[in-house]
Amino acid sequence: MTQTLKEIHLAHTQGFCAGVSSAIEIVELGLQKYGTPLYVRHEIVHNTSIIKDFEKRGVIFIEELADVPDDKVVIFSAHGTAPDVFEAAKDRGLKVIDATCPLVTKVHRQATRFSKREVHTLLIGHRGHQELVGTSGYVKDHLRHIIEDEADIEALDLPADIEVGVLTQTTLSVRDTTHLIEKLQTKFPNLVTGGKEDICYATQNRQDSVLELAEICDLVIIVGSVASSNSNRLRETAQEAGIDSFIIDTPDEFSFDWLEGKKCLGISSGASVPWYLVEQLVDLIYEKYPQVNIQKKESTEKGIHFPLPKELSDYKLASQ
Ligand code: SF4
Repeated sequence: MTQTLKEIHLAHTQGFCAGVSSAIEIVELGLQKYGTPLYVRHEIVHNTSIIKDFEKRGVIFIEELADVPDDKVVIFSAHGTAPDVFEAAKDRGLKVIDATCPLVTKVHRQATRFSKREVHTLLIGHRGHQELVGTSGYVKDHLRHIIEDEADIEALDLPADIEVGVLTQTTLSVRDTTHLIEKLQTKFPNLVTGGKEDICYATQNRQDSVLELAEICDLVIIVGSVASSNSNRLRETAQEAGIDSFIIDTPDEFSFDWLEGKKCLGISSGASVPWYLVEQLVDLIYEKYPQVNIQKKESTEKGIHFPLPKELSDYKLASQ
């Protein structure tokens, strides 16, 4: 292999967002307060390393409430949960702790407002993704339309002159979503939209940071799990900027062949990726390229924290 790698640039804004930090803290505090086994509906965040670690410590991840024994505590994941699941848990007498990111809850509230007013609601997102499944539950069946791409817009059979609401998954590509919303605005002049506002600050900042890497690097590696929407969008962001990019779940998936002929490597990570995985990747590469210059600018995200559910914030204070 030709050893040409000279620089590694770490994305200045990457890794855990406030929603993920809070969801992980909820599970940590849940383990302390309620012990094991502790049930979590769906992966608390989409990261394989975090899930495996919690499983080792007695957390049981389930998809169906039927798999939670009576009288147990169940935590709902950061991606958001449909109202009928909350109802079913209540009917079963389960104690629910909701780890939904507040930025997802904000989208749920708007969905509910649209449905109360009988406004047809277009949900832009990826079919089957947990967040979209949850948000769909806040929109009445006869008003709900999922938009994944332009073909879905063309297939929409609604009168052009009615008021139509649009909401988006929080972790989409800013560029693609803006494009889809522009198309919708042409088809429905009375479209009610917050623009790309549903896309959260963390998704926006991480995509901006990858675009900066794409300007100076000739390869961008994204650390993130395949199920993680925001991580996949980071890889696409680099690729759409014309740069080779690969996503790896853990450092052992990194291939040194990718560095063939590359001078500058950019590294970023999704909003659910622990920092130690990025450090392990850097160490792995540094071992082989000890002359490489590693650079990281200061993060633009500072001091963003989301409140914990009351029963756990009280417990945290009491146990401190
Ligand atoms: S990526 Fe955005 S919406 Fe998702 S948990 Fe993080 S802050 Fe919340």
